[in-house]
Amino acid sequence: MKQLKNYIAGTWQQSKTTDYLEVINPATNVLLAEVPLSLANELDQAATAASEAFSSWRRIPPTSRIQYLFKLKTLLEEHREDLAKTITEECGKTLKESQGELQRAIENVEVACGIPTLMQGHNSEDIARGIDESMIRQPLGVVGVIAPFNFPAMIPFWFFPYAIACGNTCIIKPSEKVPQTMEKIMDLVDQTGLPAGVMNVVNGSKTVVDALLDHPTVKAISFVGSSPVAKYIYRRAAENGKRVQCQGGAKNPVVILPDADLEMTTQIVADSAFGCAGQRCLAASLAITVGSVKADFTDAIVEAAQQRVVGNGLDDGVQMGAVINQGSCDRIQSLTQTGIDEGGKLLVDGRNPKIPGYEEGSFVRPTLLQDIPLQGEVATTEIFGPVLGIIHADTLDDAIALVNQSRWGNMACLFTNSGAAARKFRYEAEAGNVGINIGVAAPMAFFPFSGWKESFYGDLHGQSQHAVEFFTQTKVVVERWPKEWSRQF
Ligand code: NAD
Repeated sequence: MKQLKNYIAGTWQQSKTTDYLEVINPATNVLLAEVPLSLANELDQAATAASEAFSSWRRIPPTSRIQYLFKLKTLLEEHREDLAKTITEECGKTLKESQGELQRAIENVEVACGIPTLMQGHNSEDIARGIDESMIRQPLGVVGVIAPFNFPAMIPFWFFPYAIACGNTCIIKPSEKVPQTMEKIMDLVDQTGLPAGVMNVVNGSKTVVDALLDHPTVKAISFVGSSPVAKYIYRRAAENGKRVQCQGGAKNPVVILPDADLEMTTQIVADSAFGCAGQRCLAASLAITVGSVKADFTDAIVEAAQQRVVGNGLDDGVQMGAVINQGSCDRIQSLTQTGIDEGGKLLVDGRNPKIPGYEEGSFVRPTLLQDIPLQGEVATTEIFGPVLGIIHADTLDDAIALVNQSRWGNMACLFTNSGAAARKFRYEAEAGNVGINIGVAAPMAFFPFSGWKESFYGDLHGQSQHAVEFFTQTKVVVERWPKEWSRQF
């Protein structure tokens, strides 16, 4: 069985650990590879390599640094199909979803290619007579990226292209559930000729993460994953004096007004709730119907849920793939039962489906629970599966109050034909990403991936100018050149 390696100082290295985890195709339950749970001293080797690379990498002009990213963009495009297949095989989503994820990754490389402009500072002449002041941006040093399982390609790209373009060196800790995608991406990074040590990958789980959080050489941590882990990482890294940004979990509400286009809304909400089998931090997981739309929307979404074609993401015509593993299936199904026990009405039961040809796979079909109690477990827990709760509000004000009582704030969406309602919602909704007639309000690479409340710990988000600010520190220089010295020129 193939054993994955770590990429340290420009070479692939076998881990010294004896502890390996199985990487499984969730649609077929076939073993794909084994991933090492690397040792703390292997993280230390990566940190040393990254630190040694930093002093020369930061001196390479930004215009030259980004040439490696231009090459990487071309390589990613050339290997798009192979990478998408790898994502689907280890993550379970459909091939189309994997292709979409890669496109988002590539867009971040494109934006990071603008670093020569994006990391410019500013200056003021004559802040006092004959004195000038300027602000410049400098890289931090070695930075660490810790990724979740649900977007094995895209999420590391929210960070590392910006980090290295700004002159930092980087260590990535991929999710141990889906490590093959990053292996393939690093092969491409290697082909760009990037100097050894600028990019490193150390596979593993908590031991490697903790070593990264505690390592004195590592100056900043970017994390994406569940909120409890985000909070832990935020605290521990901050205690160690590091700059931290942690994107966490979510429970995303979509509000449907009576004037919304029902057909379009139903299709978009279904795509949001059931796309990627609900394993998206921007998946709609609570639909709030307002006023008279309740019955019509409910009928329409029931039909959409029942019609969803579920299967192996590599097969043609499949609209929804597997969830990540059997443990996740069990958790989703158990939370569905909790919803019923709490008094919710099970409109569509997606539990224990039989998918012909894939009896060993980890599948849950779309599931709909209506009238779940607002303070109950199902309405307040991130299920991370294809389960949509439906609740009702009498007015838009009531619906916004429901949105805002959530402890999460990753995304909130409104479906309406009214500009005034849309403006009110945009203005009042307590969420960092807002969609108006959009079901997955994922920011483009040139916007920050915002997130509020328990969906984000930190100040600066991933992507865009935020990433540039996160990965640089400002230096202010005040200069005076006495007249006697200047006179000679
Ligand atoms: P997770 O929190 O279990 O794992 C994320 C990373 O943290 C992995 O690399 C894992 O190895 C590591 N990790 C896990 N437990 C740890 C611990 N106790 N100590 C140290 N490190 C630990 O998340 P996941 O299941 O891989 O991903 C799904 C979660 O990610 C969902 O909650 C989802 O909402 C969230 N997510 C958020 C965003 C966002 O932008 N806000 C995007 C994608 C996913």
